[in-house]
Order: sequence, then C-alpha cells, then structure tokens
Amino acid sequence: MKFYDPVKVYEDTDCVSKHAGELASLGKHALIVTGKHSSRLNGSLTDVMRALSSHGVICDIYDEVKQNPDVESVMAARDLGLSKGADFVIGIGGGSPMDAAKAVALMIKHKDCDPEFLYDTSKADITDALPLAAVPTTCGTGSEVTAVSVLEIKERRSKQSIKHKFFFDLALLDPKYLMSMPKSVLRTTAVDALCHLTESRINSTATSFSIMTNRMGFELWRSARDIISGDEDMSPEGAQALLEASTMGGMSIVQTDTSVPHGLSYRVTIMGGVPHGRACGYFLPNYIEHADREVRREVLSAMGFSDTDYLREFYVKLFGETSVSEEVLEAAVDDVMKNSTGKLALCPFKCDYETLREIAGLK
Ligand code: NAP
Ligand code: ZN
Repeated sequence: MKFYDPVKVYEDTDCVSKHAGELASLGKHALIVTGKHSSRLNGSLTDVMRALSSHGVICDIYDEVKQNPDVESVMAARDLGLSKGADFVIGIGGGSPMDAAKAVALMIKHKDCDPEFLYDTSKADITDALPLAAVPTTCGTGSEVTAVSVLEIKERRSKQSIKHKFFFDLALLDPKYLMSMPKSVLRTTAVDALCHLTESRINSTATSFSIMTNRMGFELWRSARDIISGDEDMSPEGAQALLEASTMGGMSIVQTDTSVPHGLSYRVTIMGGVPHGRACGYFLPNYIEHADREVRREVLSAMGFSDTDYLREFYVKLFGETSVSEEVLEAAVDDVMKNSTGKLALCPFKCDYETLREIAGLK
C-alpha cells in the first residue's frame, strides 16, 4: 500500500499573498497560464502578479486557455514562455489552465521536442519539468494535486491524459475565488469532484489510504450539497468545504485513478459538447448500481442519498434532462473497451461489454 502526493498545499484566505515568498522562490521569471476572463474577475490573477512583483519576479501571461485545452494551445504557451525566458510556470483557474500549465512546463523544459512527445509512451518516464505552481479557482478537478494533464486531441475527437505524470510543486488554495462562480461552473465542477470521490472508492485499487481522503472529501461535499443544488446561497464556509472536497477528490484519484464514468465521459464532452463534470456525472448512478452492495451503500450514504434514484433526481435538478446521442455513447463504449488495461481494469466488478453498455445507458 502506498500514499504519494508530493505537492505542498496551503489553504487559507489570502493564501497567495501569505505565501508570496514561497511562490516567488520557484524562479525569477514566471509564465502565468490562465483562461481569458475568470482569473481577472475573481482576483486570483491580480493576487499572483502582486505576490510576484513584491519579490522582484517578472511575469508574462498566456491567457488563451479554453475549456478542454488542446495540444496547440500548450505549444503556443510554450513558445511564449521560451521567447520570454520563463523559468517557472503558474497555472491559475480551473482544471483547464492547470492541466495546460503542467504540459507547458514539461514542453519548455524539453524545448526541442515535438508535440508528439506528450503522447509518446516510450518517453513517459521523462517527467522533469519547470517548477510549477497552481492556484485553483473551481471546485472539481483537483488537478492541483494530481499528476495528470488531460488535453484534447483534435484528430481523434477525444481527450486523453498526456503520458508523463508529475505534480505541481506548490498549490495555493483560496476559497474566496470560488465566490464568483456562476451556478453552471459550480454545479459541473462539484459533480466532477463527486465522481472523483466515487470512482476512487468504487475502484479495484482502493486502499485504506485512498479511502481516508475519500471519506473526508465526501463529508465536505455533503456539507455543501444545498449550495450546489441552489437551495442555499454560496458562503465562505461553503466555498472552503467545496474547495477542500475537490482537493481531496484529487488526492484520492492520485492513489487509484478514475474509472469507467470518466472513461466514458471524454467522447461526451468532445463530441457531445457536455462539460466535463456533467459528462462524468451522467454515468455515475449506473456505475454505482453495479457496485458491490456494501460499497454502494457506503458511497450513497456518504453523499447523503438513500438510493441511486435520489442521485438521479439531484443530477436532473442541477442540469435538467441530458440527452446524449447513441453515436456518441457507442463511441464512448468502444473507447473504454479498446483500452482494457485502462479504466476497465480499475473497475472492481466484472465489467464486460454488456455491462459497459448498461452503464452507458445503451440497450
Ligand atoms: P475549466 O474548463 O477550467 O473552466 C470552466 C469555466 O469556468 C471557464 O469558462 C472558466 O473561465 C470559468 N471559471 C473558472 N474559475 C472560475 C471562477 N472562480 N469564477 C467564475 N468562472 C470561473 O473547468 P474545470 O471543470 O475546472 O476543468 C475541466 C478540465 O479539467 C477538463 O479539461 C478536464 O478533462 C480536466 N480534468 C483534469 C483532472 C486532473 O486530474 N488533472 C481531473 C479532472 C478533470 P475562463 O476560461 O475565463 O478562465
Ligand atoms: Zn474529472
């Protein structure tokens, strides 16, 4: 049994300014990788720039990261970083900028490599990247503590984790950035965190250590459930619980990885245009229904639902009816089947083609 998650994580209000020295100690010239708008609106970008300038560190900003970042944007950010002489990278935002930042830090370090390097299995053990920091502003992916960077591959009309696995050095978590999240972002990211917690628990590689972060994550998530559903307003305490639940979901999947719902979700996002957390959550009740009775009960009660029908109702309350075409679902099932050593191997119950189709909602 092993527990490994080497990221130094601080969580506090005004976390970035409180730990400005540590952030600035990562280098002399930062490349900030972020999205177009939200980091400017929620104050995270200003906080990071102030923290850096107070320690004489210069920075450049790549702010073109879109949802579901692609290899092309990673290469564009890499080119900017190289041309400016960046010696460390800071990802600010949701999972998209954080995942992009990881890949950018790798590609700057290996500046002579082509984009194919990111998906070259024979080079997967090359994991030295520029020093990296994360400032998360959503409550879903836990990317700040995971070793994964998921990018869109346009030719395949799907998404895949790059082959190289490595971590941020530093993660600065401030719940106040979550206060400005629109309902749609809150809901989809909170359901992503719920999927991480669930898929890590209903997982053939779950251990006492992964269950430890798992249980606490569920407890925090459940405490904020009425905020997610809109029955309560967002509060500083709720934002803190959501952010911590998301980070603990990340710490859990570092140990176990995600399983079938995530595997099925990638096509639904790229071909069907459904945001990540909502796409994963679409398969969650069916996945839970196939799990062993004890674990199923444990997971549902940890979320605060007496059975999967209540979880389904909750999902519909958040997103309305979600319709995914058969073509997309068939492609998703094919993806998961083709990679039997991937997500299928992490499924703790027998998951053959028929079962997978049932989880996908196909007859
Ligand atoms: P996201 O794609 O990073 O962001 C979604 C939207 O939310 C963007 O429009 C963004 O705006 C906005 N936003 C971010 N923070 C906000 C805030 N505080 N207030 C208002 N708006 C805000 O969403 P995400 O769900 O966090 O990340 C999804 C990505 O992470 C997917 O690509 C998924 O595959 C990946 N993922 C990675 C891991 C991992 O372990 N590495 C795990 C799960 C998922 P801007 O564009 O203006 O910033
Ligand atoms: Zn996810």
